[in-house]
Amino acid sequence: MNPTRILFLLDFDGTLAPIRRNPARAQLSKKTRATLVRLLQAGHRVDILSARPRAFLQNQFPSGVRIHADRGNSRTQAHRKDVQHLFTVIQRLRPPALFGFGIKKTRISVELHYRNVSRAQLPALRRFIARVTAALGVQKAVGRKVIAFLPVRIQDKAAHVRQLVKQWSGPVYFFGDDDSDAAAMRALRKRPHTRCFLVATNERQKTPRGIRIVRGVSGVRRELQKIIAQTKKANQRGSS
Ligand SMILES: [Mg+2]
Repeated sequence: MNPTRILFLLDFDGTLAPIRRNPARAQLSKKTRATLVRLLQAGHRVDILSARPRAFLQNQFPSGVRIHADRGNSRTQAHRKDVQHLFTVIQRLRPPALFGFGIKKTRISVELHYRNVSRAQLPALRRFIARVTAALGVQKAVGRKVIAFLPVRIQDKAAHVRQLVKQWSGPVYFFGDDDSDAAAMRALRKRPHTRCFLVATNERQKTPRGIRIVRGVSGVRRELQKIIAQTKKANQRGSS
């Protein structure tokens, strides 16, 4: 048995793949993919937690990696009506016509993408977001240049992480980059043998206590490689 089998909980966008102007082009690099393969070969468990749909993620990851798409909400069929309702209400609130702003309906949420909105236009966008929040009983998940509105019955990342680690008694290492990841990290704060790594961005970020900061996707990769080397040594000592 592998004495230090770690459960890695990894976010995708901004953590394993750089943020792209066009989100459809975000991709796992060969180097990062190879690092994940090494984690699996070292006996660790690798879980990907993302708001992206399964089809998008499945193509990118090597087999053996567990994918939790749609923020871990697998029974999304039941929520379709909720999401449609949310979408209709948001449209009725007259979204501003801003260059670089888009509204997207996913299986579990309505996403407001503002990656390409100019700084001068941000106040108009903020006013709209405040209108939506005031009008609806929704959960707000703030990402990097995207705000997702989720029907209240949809599970957010923190809830999903809490559920996942309940079934795991060993160490858990969590890597993420945005506010929803920070919320999940807070949910893990009191768990023993748990480490959280936040990818630093240029934007204002609250850094929760006890969280390690890493620089970019390459920083994540370096950290993972370090852990592979460390656990390899520890496990060799353990078995000799
Ligand atoms: Mg992310």
